[in-house]
Amino acid sequence: MMRLAYHVEMLPLTTAMDTLENAVNAYLIISGQDALLIDSGFIESASMIDRRLRESGLVLEGIYLTHFHPDHSLGALEIAANHQVKIHCHPLDYKPLIDLYRHYLPDADTSWVIADLDEGQTVSFSGEQLTILHIPGHSHGHIAIFDKKNGYLFAGDHVIPVGTVWIGPPDGHLTDYLRSLSRLLTLQVSKLYPGHGDPVLSPRFLMTQMQQRRLDREAEIMSHLSAKEHTAMSLVREIYVGKIPEPYLWAAKKTVIAHLQKLYGEHLITMRHDSITNQFYYTASPVNSRLVDEGSD
Ligand SMILES: [Zn+2]
Repeated sequence: MMRLAYHVEMLPLTTAMDTLENAVNAYLIISGQDALLIDSGFIESASMIDRRLRESGLVLEGIYLTHFHPDHSLGALEIAANHQVKIHCHPLDYKPLIDLYRHYLPDADTSWVIADLDEGQTVSFSGEQLTILHIPGHSHGHIAIFDKKNGYLFAGDHVIPVGTVWIGPPDGHLTDYLRSLSRLLTLQVSKLYPGHGDPVLSPRFLMTQMQQRRLDREAEIMSHLSAKEHTAMSLVREIYVGKIPEPYLWAAKKTVIAHLQKLYGEHLITMRHDSITNQFYYTASPVNSRLVDEGSD
């Protein structure tokens, strides 16, 4: 077997209040004394990652963020300052990331952040080429890092083996998400490193399953909308009540809205606003069909 030019270390990170089950993964890609960091965990994760780097005398070359969400990005500023390295992100996630830093870390220096991760760009590390893939959906500027030669995919939150990937407006977009997922399915991925949960050894199976789950949900929503008009909340009531705990219904509503956005964008449903109730109502578009050939007998 071919020897990898680097090895990968997973760091499951939690806040003081969280259990390991809710951990977010940062990854160190290590070759000799050199290391790249993918995602950074929470504010309090910085000292743990620092310790890991110092214990092994590793020299950090850069921090790569799969997307801006706080559990993946908040620790990065402190690590960047301590190791004098840049934080790389996709241009579409730059503004929300900086807003997040200003909110949680108002005194920190955000000039470490550069929005230079673009589709197709490669990062050379230890003689290997890591390719940046722009895979919008979970966030608009979400990226994956792909080692084509070895089939390794660092997928962030786009593909996770635990729970459901959060796709909600305004950060997320379901049409983009499914398109990106289809794209990942065209790649030869042998091992997938997710933002949450353990590394995945059968990535194709997992991605197909995730795709199917979304399409099943969409079909369910379409069948409700074909039967009668609904608001987002009345759909949530029909689909989720009794199946998930009450406190999570707001999240279910966001998921439903993401589906409605997608279906509306595809002209499969229509929408009307009622000024009295100040609500949006959705219904399945009528199927336009016209007889154009009566047949010959
Ligand atoms: Zn996320």
